[in-house]
Amino acid sequence: MAKEELECSFCGRKKPETNLLIAGLDAHICDRCIEQAHGIVIEESKQIDSSDLSAELKLRKPQQIKAFLDEYIIGQGMTKKVMSVAVYNHYKRLLQPPSNDDIDIQKSNIIMVGQTGTGKTLMAKTVARMLNVPLAIVDATVLTEAGYVGEDVESILTRLLQAADYNLEKAEKGIVFIDEIDKIARKSDNPSITRDVSGEGVQQALLKLLEGTIVNVPPKGGRKHPDQKFIEVNTENILFIAGGAFDGIERVISKRLNMQAVGYSASMSDDVVDQDNLLQYIIPKDLKDFGLIPEIIGRLPVLTHMDPLDANTLRAILTEPKNAIIKQYKKLFAMDDVDFSITEGALNFIVGKAIEYKLGARGLRSLCEEILTDAMFELPSSDEKKFNVTKMYAEEKLTKTTLKKLKAVS
Ligand code: ADP
Repeated sequence: MAKEELECSFCGRKKPETNLLIAGLDAHICDRCIEQAHGIVIEESKQIDSSDLSAELKLRKPQQIKAFLDEYIIGQGMTKKVMSVAVYNHYKRLLQPPSNDDIDIQKSNIIMVGQTGTGKTLMAKTVARMLNVPLAIVDATVLTEAGYVGEDVESILTRLLQAADYNLEKAEKGIVFIDEIDKIARKSDNPSITRDVSGEGVQQALLKLLEGTIVNVPPKGGRKHPDQKFIEVNTENILFIAGGAFDGIERVISKRLNMQAVGYSASMSDDVVDQDNLLQYIIPKDLKDFGLIPEIIGRLPVLTHMDPLDANTLRAILTEPKNAIIKQYKKLFAMDDVDFSITEGALNFIVGKAIEYKLGARGLRSLCEEILTDAMFELPSSDEKKFNVTKMYAEEKLTKTTLKKLKAVS
C-alpha cells in the first residue's frame, strides 16, 4: 500500500486527518481511536471493580485479613482479630443472595476504644486499603443536630461520596470511620435544661445512618449550596467504624470490676486485674455509663479496645510495619544515593523520649523529623554517601527546647 493511502482500520480516517497513526501487524489505529478505546478499558475496569469484592473475600478469610493488618499495624492483636471477623462477616452479609429463610444477618458496625495515637485510624485505613473500598474519616466533634451551627450528620456521606469519586455504587459499599465518638457522649445525666445539640442530639441523628436507611445527601456538602440536587445514598451496606479515647472510662470499668469482686468475692478477686490496661475489660454497659445512648451502642455491636503502646511496641512501630517511618527515611535518602542507617541505641533513645514526653506513636515521626532535618537539608548537596545516626548524634540534635515544643503540639 502506498504511504498516503494509509488509514485507521477502526474509524477509516486517512493518515493526514490524524495526529498519529500507529501500525500493527495487519492494521493501523489513530490517536482518537486509541483514546476512545482507553476510555472503554477504564469503564470496563470500573465494572470489574464492583465484583472485585466477592473475589477479594473468597481469597481473604479472617486469618488472611488479620495477616494483612499485621503487615501495617504492630500489636493490637485482640482488635485485629475482632476486626477481621467483623469485616469478613460484613462483606459476607453484603454478598449474600436474597433468601426467604427470615434470617437477616445484621450489620457488624464496630466501636474501638483506645487512647489517642494507638492506631484506631490506622486500623480503619488499613481495612479500607485491603478491600479497596472508599473510606471517609470524619470527626464527630464537628457534627451537630440539624439546624444548628456545625455539620449535619449527612455530611459524613458527602465525604464518602467524594472518597468514591461520586461513584454511588462504590460509596454504598464503603467504610466510614467516625473518630472521637466519645465527644458526643451525653453531657450530663440531666437531659433537660439546655438542648444537647452536639451530644445526644447527634447520637440520635447518627442512629438511622448506622442502621441502614436512605439518606438525601447534598453532594457538595454543607449548607452553602442550597440549590444542589440531592443524591440518595443507601447506608444499608456501609460499614461504620467508630473510635474514641473515652478519657476517664477506666474509672467506670474499675468501679464495676470492684463491685463484681465484692459480689463474687472469691472467683473474681482471684483473677488478677491488670490495672495498667483496664480497657481490656470494657463491656457495652461501660459505654452507656460514659454517656452513649443504648440505641447507639446497640448499633455498634462489635466492641473492642486498643492496648496502650509500650516501649517494645513503639520500637517496633519505628522499623517493622510495611511503611515504617525508618523505612521511609531510608527511601528518601536513597533517592540522593545516601545510604542511611540508624543504630539500635539511637532507636531506643527516640522511643525513650517519646515515652518520657508522652508523645505516643505520633511523636515518633516528629522526633525523627527533628533529628534528621539538618541531614536532609545538607546531604543532598554534599558528597557524603553514608549517613549513620548514632545515639550521640540523636541526642545532639534533640535539644530540650525542641522536645518542649513537640510536647506542646502533641
Ligand atoms: P488514633 O486514631 O488511635 O488516634 P492513629 O491511627 O492516627 O491513632 O495513629 C497515629 C500514628 O501512629 C499512625 O499514623 C501510625 O503511624 C502510628 N501508629 C499508632 N499505632 C500503631 C500501631 N499499633 N502500629 C503501627 N503504627 C501505629
